[in-house]
Amino acid sequence: MAYPEHQRWALALSAVITELNGGHHDALGGWGENEHTRAWCKNHLAKFYGIASQADLASMAKWLYQEGHTKDARALLSSAAQAGASEERDAETDARARVVLDNREEIEKRGVLAWDTARLVAVLGWSAWAGYIGEIPAWEVMLMAGARAQQTYDSWESFARGYELGRLFWAEGAPHEPTARAIEKLTTDPASPWKTLAWNFDLGVKILDPNAKTRFKKTTCAACGAAKSRPSATAYVYCDFCGALADYDFQRACATPIARPGPVYEALAAALAPKIEAARASGDREAFRAAQIELFDAFARACPDATPLRARDEAYRAKYAAYLAEGALVTAFDDRARELDAAMRDAMSKLRGEKLDTGEIRLNPNAWRALFEAVLAREAHAAALFESAGVYAMQPDGASAALQKRMSMSMFAQGWLPMLDETTAKDMLTRLGLVGDFVEGTSGKEEIAKGSCGACGAELAVARGARRMICEQCGRKIDVEGARVTCSGCGASLSPAEGVDAFACPYCKIELRRVAAIRA
Ligand SMILES: [Zn+2]
Ligand SMILES: [Zn+2]
Ligand SMILES: [Zn+2]
Repeated sequence: MAYPEHQRWALALSAVITELNGGHHDALGGWGENEHTRAWCKNHLAKFYGIASQADLASMAKWLYQEGHTKDARALLSSAAQAGASEERDAETDARARVVLDNREEIEKRGVLAWDTARLVAVLGWSAWAGYIGEIPAWEVMLMAGARAQQTYDSWESFARGYELGRLFWAEGAPHEPTARAIEKLTTDPASPWKTLAWNFDLGVKILDPNAKTRFKKTTCAACGAAKSRPSATAYVYCDFCGALADYDFQRACATPIARPGPVYEALAAALAPKIEAARASGDREAFRAAQIELFDAFARACPDATPLRARDEAYRAKYAAYLAEGALVTAFDDRARELDAAMRDAMSKLRGEKLDTGEIRLNPNAWRALFEAVLAREAHAAALFESAGVYAMQPDGASAALQKRMSMSMFAQGWLPMLDETTAKDMLTRLGLVGDFVEGTSGKEEIAKGSCGACGAELAVARGARRMICEQCGRKIDVEGARVTCSGCGASLSPAEGVDAFACPYCKIELRRVAAIRA
């Protein structure tokens, strides 16, 4: 019996392993039904994966799907990237550290998901033969893993490179001729599944992460008193009812890796650096401010997830960049702030890594605490400057000073968190006010009406009783309380942005006007 195409596609994820075993690419686990299959699978699972039961398989499959060598490689990368850690590594860790450091960008971006996925698919196939899992559940997991691999890589070739990187990490950097030959064959042989099955084949699988939908930070809006009723699109939490910036969700921020602004921003930063330094040295505040505004504007464009949703709107972004630039200016031109910066750099240079019993590297807590105190001292001084120079008052959402402090410290905390032991990490988060209460909630579908953003046309999920809300697509604050405007061209029912009376229909571009009489 031949499997349908999407199942054969899932099997192709473990094609290198099948090739190495001399198996068949169109058969579950690489083998058809014969008197040796079950014994071979049981033996292979026990010998290479320590799997001898249903429970063993469950924990191995869970590890391969959720963590795998991807998690190990990323943990090693963040500890290996810390200066001072190198002399404390053993030979095995050292060889692996070289692999991750040489492939830094790939490890950060995709990990070694191809390697973990290939092994998961192979293990599930063998386990179905061994009787540790039913065939249907095995296929379900394989297809889900396949859909995720499709989102992560863009071709069988990039999947193969990801596989080889994972193998290198596992093998401590040692090459493996048979693997290289298998990959060569799979990428060139016209009969290979990687040649006959298109990478973008529609597997018919849609993955929804239920956790992301249901757990979010408990927030009460300081402006209108409403409780946040559904998860926020980014760490910057906007009120569902009045559109005010209500909170900052640090856990949400940690759910995605720290945004990197990319080459365009880096080039601009490099070009502006001498200008900024010259302006500071000569006391030219205007030139300094202008360069900082340009830089922060570029950052907000490059990293939309690291800035408030509203920064997608040009008018807001201009105010936001001016606010951040002013903060940079008042600290750059303050002698005490510069002293505190120097103290911070000094403390940073004294950080040392320590190896835990588990083999992971964590920062020496005392050296870290000295840095943390230096950062807090610097932050306290900056806060006083911001207060007196009116920087806090420039925050375009009108956020409280306390909320602004939390937001400014969060990137710092997010960056160091993986390198701290549990107690130290907890202490840091508590002192920075980044620990929050979480609520479990449904997505609240019955409380939500659908609307359309008058600025960009995106669909809006409007909470019942809401007056203003932020459009997640364009970042504008939308008036969802007033009567909607019906487009005379296309008939769309639109909610205009706050304070906007004349606007173009986002769909058909006809000029529309909100009539005062129908607002009441
Ligand atoms: Zn509110
Ligand atoms: Zn919009
Ligand atoms: Zn229209």
